Amino acid sequence: MGLLDRFKKQDAADQPTGDDIDDDALATEPAAAEPEPPAKMSIFARLKQGLRKTHDVFTRDLRDVFKEGRRVDQELLDELLPMLVKTDMGVVAAKELCDEVELQFKSRVVLKDDVIDTFKTKLKSLLMQPEEPIQFAEDGPTVIMVCGVNGSGKTTSIAKLAHLFHSQGKTVVLGAADTFRAAAVEQLTVWAGRIGCDIVTGEQGGDPASVAFKAVAHALETGADVCIVDTAGRLQTQTNLMKELEKIHRVLGKQIEAAPHEVILVLDATTGQNGISQAQHFTEAVECTGLVLAKLDGTAKGGVVVAIRKNVGLPVKFIGVGETPADLAAFVSDDFVDALFADEQAAFA
Ligand code: GDP
Ligand code: GDP
Ligand code: MG
Repeated sequence: MGLLDRFKKQDAADQPTGDDIDDDALATEPAAAEPEPPAKMSIFARLKQGLRKTHDVFTRDLRDVFKEGRRVDQELLDELLPMLVKTDMGVVAAKELCDEVELQFKSRVVLKDDVIDTFKTKLKSLLMQPEEPIQFAEDGPTVIMVCGVNGSGKTTSIAKLAHLFHSQGKTVVLGAADTFRAAAVEQLTVWAGRIGCDIVTGEQGGDPASVAFKAVAHALETGADVCIVDTAGRLQTQTNLMKELEKIHRVLGKQIEAAPHEVILVLDATTGQNGISQAQHFTEAVECTGLVLAKLDGTAKGGVVVAIRKNVGLPVKFIGVGETPADLAAFVSDDFVDALFADEQAAFA
């Protein structure tokens, strides 16, 4: 088989596997004719829908508690903590917000706006991170390895990233190093065709590290700006598969010393706190540099971003807010916090 199989169709039927998670993704892949809504507006609107529950705590619930002003004492703090925990931000972050209110206002009577200002400032500092999600290599292709558990949104997120970089005038090569399932390669091949970028594939069941190697080789040969390598989903507890991931990581560095420049872990925002364990294990194996938090449109508890940031320490580089290539946004933490507290009319008009 040739090094480069542009838009190649694989026979998905020849080797059925037990893992059918990605097949849904193919089925739901939108038709090319479907018009894409204006990216910026729709992402912002959908993000706010996804944050509704968290947003409700920060606006409606706080308004109820503080409507007549409240003295900051133990009784109030005992009331605030479970309320904050309800947002999925995790106990540690919730406790820090309460501590901050106590520190600033102990024994004083405060209004909702005082508390909200305190929360906003504290959350923004908890979430602070570099503004540019990707540091592109000055010379040669920037190699991005993408990993995560099954069905977290890796392949879709890669399509979105490729779409984004392509729209910035960069040339992109995709490496389909999920060789476990024919459907995974086909899914990425369809996306590559729509976006208009090269894709490097291998034999089904073949060595994923070999596909990764060839993808970097192709990116070097063609002078591409970015090479994004997909990997098969794996559980953070599957030691052998985690070893395989380490091998892919190592092989990516054979032709370009600094590669992979980025190791992106894709987390499914709807799985909530399990993301923390995933992040810890994947980072142990391949030193992740950041996260894509996919499916933020599918959870009402966007506060999980805070828990993940707090417990894992990795920056959230991008968020996924839907299934089309345009449904990806760089995560701007200040905007995120502002959206959590935006007043009803502005947020949900
Ligand atoms: P992978 O197994 O990690 O490669 O996951 P896929 O990229 O194949 O995605 C699994 C499913 O999640 C597919 O049905 C995707 O369309 C869907 N998906 C991925 N990202 C998002 C997102 O940001 N929002 C929504 N609503 N669905 C998503
Ligand atoms: P090993 O399988 O543990 O010995 O891992 P290596 O580090 O030797 O390489 C892993 C994979 O990367 C190999 O199976 C090859 O597919 C690929 N690879 C590594 N070096 C080269 C090379 O110089 N040329 C090509 N074509 N592939 C390579
Ligand atoms: Mg996939």
